[in-house]
Amino acid sequence: MNTLFSSLPLRAELLQNLSSLEYNTMTPIQAQSLPVMLEGKDVIGQGKTGSGKTAAFGLTLLHNLNVERFRVQALVLCPTRELADQVAKEIRKLARTIHNIKVLTLCGGVPFGPQIGSLEHGAHIIVGTPGRIHDHLEKGRLDLSELNTLVLDEADRMLEMGFQAAIDAVLEHTPASRQTLLFSATYPKEIEKIAQKIMRAPTKVEVAEQHDASAIREIFYQVDSHQARLNAVKDLLLEFQPKSCVIFCNTKAETVDIADALHDDGFSVIEINGDLEQRDRDQTLVRFANKSVSILVATDVAARGLDIDELDMVINYQLSHDPEVHVHRIGRTGRAGSSGVACSLITDKDAHKIIALEDYTNRQYDTVALPTPAASKQPVMPTMATLRIDGGKKQKVRPGDILGALTGENGIQGSQVGKIHMFDFCAYVAVEKSVVKAALRKMEKGKIKGRSFRVWQVR
Ligand code: ADP
Ligand code: MG
Repeated sequence: MNTLFSSLPLRAELLQNLSSLEYNTMTPIQAQSLPVMLEGKDVIGQGKTGSGKTAAFGLTLLHNLNVERFRVQALVLCPTRELADQVAKEIRKLARTIHNIKVLTLCGGVPFGPQIGSLEHGAHIIVGTPGRIHDHLEKGRLDLSELNTLVLDEADRMLEMGFQAAIDAVLEHTPASRQTLLFSATYPKEIEKIAQKIMRAPTKVEVAEQHDASAIREIFYQVDSHQARLNAVKDLLLEFQPKSCVIFCNTKAETVDIADALHDDGFSVIEINGDLEQRDRDQTLVRFANKSVSILVATDVAARGLDIDELDMVINYQLSHDPEVHVHRIGRTGRAGSSGVACSLITDKDAHKIIALEDYTNRQYDTVALPTPAASKQPVMPTMATLRIDGGKKQKVRPGDILGALTGENGIQGSQVGKIHMFDFCAYVAVEKSVVKAALRKMEKGKIKGRSFRVWQVR
């Protein structure tokens, strides 16, 4: 199979841009799906997180686009706002050499006002969550009559989150002539049913799970009872000393219980589950991603699709009921060539899950006894802290402005500044813990874009 982007019938600006982005060769799912999709055919793509699905459908919808015609021509449905933001960002990146392409995100959990304003200005490409898009359609604010590409991203997760009805309703507003692309990490029966209903003779492209097995060390620990799991988690954290660890749970209630218990024992921990308000979700993810918090306790839904690099440990508090989900969870560590460890806690009652997993991966798993960490081992504390700035994209604040306001005369060093995350009306910046006070002082005195913004430390 040819894996060069230049073998594809893409316009020159797109190809040039890909090489400037250092996308030199196609990932396996791209190499298999793009030639078919660029012929205009419907495709079902299945592949693990990080396999490059976004660029696959992103290039297709850009290929289908007539920029001169300022109408909505592509719609991408995503399960969460974080994912929609990531997808929109990737599409903008892919489209940056084509002038005047307008990409608009429309997600739930944020005010309607600005979205209505943006819709009045028009867009070529819409990325958003099904509920909110349906809402805009019903109110007549969004017209999809010229849609040529419809993408369902993370379709399995959208169904799990109860978006079936909203998706059906959105589809009613789209022309039958559209090209439909469906991407999913897993392929349960419900997805097959949807595909049959809404797609035309789809080609199925599947890229098998192929983690770099050598990079992920997978260990199964035998625990005596369900109640013993919590102490086991603490022992594992102390033993392995991860700087960045996700603990997966099967229920929301567990995320809260575990986070509370770890917090009481002095760990740097935060939980994320579907109950959080959008603002709290954003803040939680930012603090974990920028290394101000070491441990994230999450349900699968809440952790889905998050692009967190350099995760050195995953703990399965309980095994997932679904082997595919398990493989997905552990694949979040050991990415991009870094090494990682994935620990799963097992009781006798989990025997059937192990059997299902062995069937699925064609491997055999043995359990080992829990480690007893040396008494001298303490919880790993994060090196960074998060500052929140009450100004964001809508105030035209850019990451460079924030970096500028922190550094310079009487400021802190650029090397002491970590990740910067921008939102519409606020921004977060990570700074080394030892310089929080200095950073706050500098920001309070200085101005960004000639204005003073409130700044404080998020705890
Ligand atoms: P998925 O949706 O399959 O989970 P993404 O589309 O988010 O994965 O891609 C994961 C990362 O890989 C992104 O950071 C993206 O920019 C990068 N990427 C995608 N395709 C390529 C490519 N052909 N070459 C290099 N990097 C790529
Ligand atoms: Mg994706």
